[in-house]
Amino acid sequence: MKRIMFLFVISFLVTACLFPPPPPPQTGSAPATESQPEANDQSSQNQNQASTTSEAESESHSHSDAPHTSDVDLTRLEVGDGKYSTSPQVGYVFSCQTTFNGGGATGTGNWMNGDGTWNALMKAVVDGSVSWPHEFTISIQGDQRVFTGNGLPNHTTGTYPVSSSDDAYAVDRNPNSISEQNVTVSLPANPTIASQPSCVGGAIGIMLSGVPMFNAFDAQGLDAGAHEVQDNCDGHPQQSGVYHYHSLSDCATDTTAGHSALMGYAFDGFGIYGYYDSNGEEVTNEDLDECHGHTEVVEWDGQLVEMYHYHATHEFPYTVGCFKGTASVRTSGGQGQGQQGGQNQQGGQTGQGQQPPQEAIDACAGLSQGASCSVGNMSGTCMTPPNSSQLACVPAGGPPGP
Ligand SMILES: [Zn+2]
Ligand SMILES: [Zn+2]
Repeated sequence: MKRIMFLFVISFLVTACLFPPPPPPQTGSAPATESQPEANDQSSQNQNQASTTSEAESESHSHSDAPHTSDVDLTRLEVGDGKYSTSPQVGYVFSCQTTFNGGGATGTGNWMNGDGTWNALMKAVVDGSVSWPHEFTISIQGDQRVFTGNGLPNHTTGTYPVSSSDDAYAVDRNPNSISEQNVTVSLPANPTIASQPSCVGGAIGIMLSGVPMFNAFDAQGLDAGAHEVQDNCDGHPQQSGVYHYHSLSDCATDTTAGHSALMGYAFDGFGIYGYYDSNGEEVTNEDLDECHGHTEVVEWDGQLVEMYHYHATHEFPYTVGCFKGTASVRTSGGQGQGQQGGQNQQGGQTGQGQQPPQEAIDACAGLSQGASCSVGNMSGTCMTPPNSSQLACVPAGGPPGP
C-alpha cells in the first residue's frame, strides 16, 4: 500500500491574502531581516539543471526546440472575478471556499479596460528592490518530495508595506510586511491522477523560488492577478507576512524554446510548468483541461517523461484550477482557514496545530494582528494562537472553548 504522508504546512499555508481594511496601515511584525545579500540558491535538487538531457534527446523530436510563440493578447486579458465553481470547470477555480469576505485592492487601476478585460502591460508595480536571506531545499525522501525553507524568495521584492509615495498605493495599499516563515511541505514524489479532481484552497503549490503559489483570487473572490498590485517578481505578502504569488513570477527562468521548464509543484505533487507547450506555443485555457493541465512529455527529475502537469498561463486562472491528483496539503482561502487534510485525512481534526474555532477565525477575516474583534457577545483581539497559523479572535480571558 502506498502510504501517503501528509501535510504540515506550518505557518505559511495560511490563506489567501487578507488585507486589513486600508488606511491606516498597520504592520504586524517586521521582517526578521532585510536588505541582506541574496543567498545563492542551490536547492539540493535543482530541477532545472538537466538541460543536457533534453539536448541529448533532441534527435527524436524536432518540435522540442521550436521557438516560443504566442497568440495571447496581454493588453486584453479577461478579468476572472467570481470565476469559482463548485465542480471542475475549464477556466475556473474549483474552489473549496465559495464565500469571500476579506480584503484586496481598494481602487481600480487604469489598466482595467472597463469592458471585462485588463491590460497586463499597463499594470502598476510595487516599487523597491529588497533582497532576502533565502533558504530553500528540495529533497526526495522515500516516496516523498520534501521542501523546507524560510519562505523568503531567491529574488528581490518590492518594498512592503506599500509606501504612500508609491504609485501602486492609489490602488492597493497592501499594509503587510514580508516575514520569514517556517516552511515544511511533503508531497508525493511520483503523483498519480486521482479518480476525481478535488477543490483547491488558498495556497495551491510551492515554486522553485521557495515561494508559495496561491490561487487566482484575492480574499474578496476577485481576480488577484488583475486587481491586486504586486512587485516586479509578481509577489506580495498577506496578513501574516507570507510572501506569495497568484500567477507565474516574471523572475522565474524559463526555456527559450520547446516545452517550458518546471517552475514549481502543486500540492498534489504534479509539476507546474511555464507558459509554453511542447510545440513552443503559449498555452491558453483552450489547450488545458478543467484543472489547468494536460499530459505531454516533460522533463521530470532529469528524465523526459510523458506525464500530467499543470501550466502557468497569462489567462485566468493562471496556474492550478483544481487538483488532478490527491492533494497532500490543502488550505482554504481568504477567510483565514488553514484546513489541512487530503482525501485520506478527512473526518476530523488531526492532532497537529489545533485550529481556532471557525467563528473566531471568521471574526478576524480582513483584520490585522492586534485589531479588536468580537465573537458572539464577547470582544477580544485578533492574534495568532500558538501552534496555529491563523489569525483568530481571542477574547480577553483566553481562547474560547472548542
Ligand atoms: Zn495575494
Ligand atoms: Zn505541457
